[in-house]
Amino acid sequence: MEAKQNITLEQFQYLLARNEADYLKERALAVRQEHYGNDVFVRGLIEFTNYCRNNCYYCGIRRDNPNADRYRLSDEEIMECCHEGYRLGFRTFVLQGGEDGYFTDEKICRIVSSIKSSFPDCAVTLSIGEKTRESYKAFFDAGADRYLLRHETANEAHYQWLHPKELSLGIRKECLKHLKDIGYQVGAGFMVGSPGQTNETLYDDLQFLRELNPHMVGIGPFIPQHDTPFAAEKAGTVDMTVTLLSIIRLLLPRVLLPATTALGTVDPVGREKGLMAGANVVMPNLSPKRVREKYALYDKKICTGEEAAECIECLKNRVNKIGCNIVCDRGDYR
Ligand code: SAH
Repeated sequence: MEAKQNITLEQFQYLLARNEADYLKERALAVRQEHYGNDVFVRGLIEFTNYCRNNCYYCGIRRDNPNADRYRLSDEEIMECCHEGYRLGFRTFVLQGGEDGYFTDEKICRIVSSIKSSFPDCAVTLSIGEKTRESYKAFFDAGADRYLLRHETANEAHYQWLHPKELSLGIRKECLKHLKDIGYQVGAGFMVGSPGQTNETLYDDLQFLRELNPHMVGIGPFIPQHDTPFAAEKAGTVDMTVTLLSIIRLLLPRVLLPATTALGTVDPVGREKGLMAGANVVMPNLSPKRVREKYALYDKKICTGEEAAECIECLKNRVNKIGCNIVCDRGDYR
């Protein structure tokens, strides 16, 4: 077991104030290379529904956005995305969506097990929000390997700032604990530069991540969506996101760390910057072209006009240019 690195609030503030980004990047890159070399893992993202019962203030597919053009993929369409993805070299499929009651546990289990039986060498990741322990267990028994549930912020007051009162940090954390107990590879994470975020709330995030010790951490800049209560708020920056990626790589040396689509949206080479700062995962979109624009969590999302094949081709080139290579395997936690 490697010693788990820690950082004090004072050290964290010092690093941010002194703008030690270059030094952090160098260190984080070395740690990533020690554990994963120059391998970059890919996950094929399938955004299968944008219906959602929740009303998160930041999110474009929140329940009360009347302008969201709602859609659901059929089982056949989801399988079609997987077939295309498999052909293109993907060995992980991420099913992400709003919290959509149409997809009952039974339906989710059926979808997971048909993906697993058609593609036994692939990992299935779910990212469908807060469920009961029993539901999580049922999905796991049906074959789901991983679950992404960003904690969004580990600071109680900040959580309330970002969400309506029916949502609570306590429940979110409870869900993450259940997922870990059941045996999933678990991903937590948060947005960078979300309204109300401070160095102190970010420090709480880092402490929470250290405690939870997840297999994956998804972070990306907050980007305002024009139909949400946060429409007029400022977006998070590429620099802050990259610095935090480095710090997270140093705190959790083996963690799977995506350079997110949001990072590629605030900066045309944002994902490359993320990979050079310690990230080791990219998650290109496998959703059918006709729904891409509709899964609008935030404005100006990249790659909405491209086919999956074009996306992976473009990413391969980008990744190669910075001396990394995309690998065609499940990309499990090492
Ligand atoms: N319903 C699922 C999936 C949510 S969408 C769940 O609850 O986990 C995936 C992630 O997108 C969210 O966890 C959030 O961190 C991020 N997101 C939502 N709105 C965003 C915005 N405006 N800018 C950047 N990221 C956003």
